[in-house]
Amino acid sequence: MSKVSIIGSGFAGLSAACFVAKDGHNVTVFEKNETIGGRARAFSANGFTFDMGPSWYWMPDTFEQFFAHFNKKPSDYYNLVQLDPGFQMVFGPNDALSIPKDKDELYQSFETIEKGSADKLRKFLAEAEYKYTVGMKQMAYKPSFSWLEYATPEVIASAARLQMFSSVSSHVRKYFKDERLIALMEFPALFLGAIARQIPALYSMMNHAALSLGTWYPMGGMVEIIKAMHSLAAELGVQFKTNDPVTGITIKNGSAFGLSTQLSYIHTDGVIASGDYNHIEQQLLPAEFRNYTEAYWQKRTFAPSSLIFYLGVNKKIKKLIHHNLFFDTSLDEHAREIYENPQWPTQPLFYVCCPSKTDPSVAPEGMENLFILMPIAPGLTDTPQIREKYFKLLIKRLEFLCGESIEPHIVYHKNYCINDFVNDYNAYKGNAYGLANTLRQTAVLKPSLKNKKISNLFYAGQLTVPGPGVPPALISGQMAAEQLLKKLKTS
Ligand SMILES: Cc1cc2nc3c(=O)[nH]c(=O)nc-3n(C[C@H](O)[C@H](O)[C@H](O)COP(=O)(O)OP(=O)(O)OC[C@H]3O[C@@H](n4cnc5c(N)ncnc54)[C@H](O)[C@@H]3O)c2cc1C
Repeated sequence: MSKVSIIGSGFAGLSAACFVAKDGHNVTVFEKNETIGGRARAFSANGFTFDMGPSWYWMPDTFEQFFAHFNKKPSDYYNLVQLDPGFQMVFGPNDALSIPKDKDELYQSFETIEKGSADKLRKFLAEAEYKYTVGMKQMAYKPSFSWLEYATPEVIASAARLQMFSSVSSHVRKYFKDERLIALMEFPALFLGAIARQIPALYSMMNHAALSLGTWYPMGGMVEIIKAMHSLAAELGVQFKTNDPVTGITIKNGSAFGLSTQLSYIHTDGVIASGDYNHIEQQLLPAEFRNYTEAYWQKRTFAPSSLIFYLGVNKKIKKLIHHNLFFDTSLDEHAREIYENPQWPTQPLFYVCCPSKTDPSVAPEGMENLFILMPIAPGLTDTPQIREKYFKLLIKRLEFLCGESIEPHIVYHKNYCINDFVNDYNAYKGNAYGLANTLRQTAVLKPSLKNKKISNLFYAGQLTVPGPGVPPALISGQMAAEQLLKKLKTS
């Protein structure tokens, strides 16, 4: 039995911990914060419970597969419900497009907006399903040390159908003309941290996730998944040390030998580092053992950071549903202000999650729990005055689009932005979702899962393969664990 240390208790760290412990090793997870869960923590105040980060439960098959490795099911731990409608896109005060669970209804609503688009949607989704099946089976679970891993007969045979070299945007525009349908079909690419123009058309597989597999919600909030994985890890014997940041990794003869934490020093036989990759390398490792320089990180395209407002409102808001995307201004302009010319946005798009529409446990009776998120470029100057300015702007827009007053009814208010991501998670430039899945940052071109100079140090999480998001974090933890287990068997 080896002694394995995991740095960080987000989805990737928890996933890695479960896989390594299942193999019979002595696993300890070190977490700098008081509670586990990383970006997916929750907090409660004044009768409201807020998920701090992820709110969309997509790709339920990935969660089932994760738990199946341990002969468990998500339903052993939490109650998952499918949302209907899954989400709505709001284009103006009286112009919204909602996505029903029922596919025939979805086709019908496309047809109403653009003649002939129902058949096109059928064809588009059939292709997206094919990409999803090949992508998840043959590509997502690769450690990506070499392109040869992807040279399976199925991937080679279907290379053209997978469309690695055109963009989601050009793909969508071959099918649809109406700007609202285009916005809807391009939106799932935003989950990969970049706009549809920058994302390979392979990732139209996300439309299969969004429109066919459905949008789900674990009653109690996304933090229920963290609680589930925590319980599973504890059942497997994993130890947790919270409030105990790792401050250094000791290396002996090319192997990680010990961890210094704020509270102690421990010997280790292997490390999976799931905290922000840049922090682990730049702060915890001597320069000669890093995979990448600071200049490398400066050149990466990061997914957006976020300005977030957690609000408790003492009334119900009629026009909101659980997930609401406000696309009433130009995505192109906002995207330019995130990626090309980073600055605080002029006319931001924003997203509102209102889980109290589904879950009475997250707000007092008759009230709403609101999570408002505005994507921004990482690394911007973050001050209380700027947060306040955007709070006023977004609330005004929300009131206009919902057709009712909201600000006077706010009974709880907390905001969260770049400086909090840095302080809470050691996030490089205050990034929220890691690296964008652009073609140049996909698979082998992503920061490597393994440290090339330390034989028993592997990385997991949203800054390495396969990429940003909860399902990829689960997969990344699994792959890092598999690599470390292989290494432990041979040493
Ligand atoms: C606001 C927001 C909304 C999102 N929405 C969605 C969504 O709806 N759906 C979706 O699928 N994904 C979403 N994501 C992305 C998803 O939440 C993340 O990709 C995923 O949770 C990342 O998990 P992780 O384990 O890689 O990192 P983290 O959750 O950041 O975990 C890393 C952990 O390492 C700890 N750590 C760092 N340094 C140290 C150290 N020195 N010592 C000890 N511990 C350390 C940190 O405190 C943290 O707990 C969202 C993210 C954010 C921020």
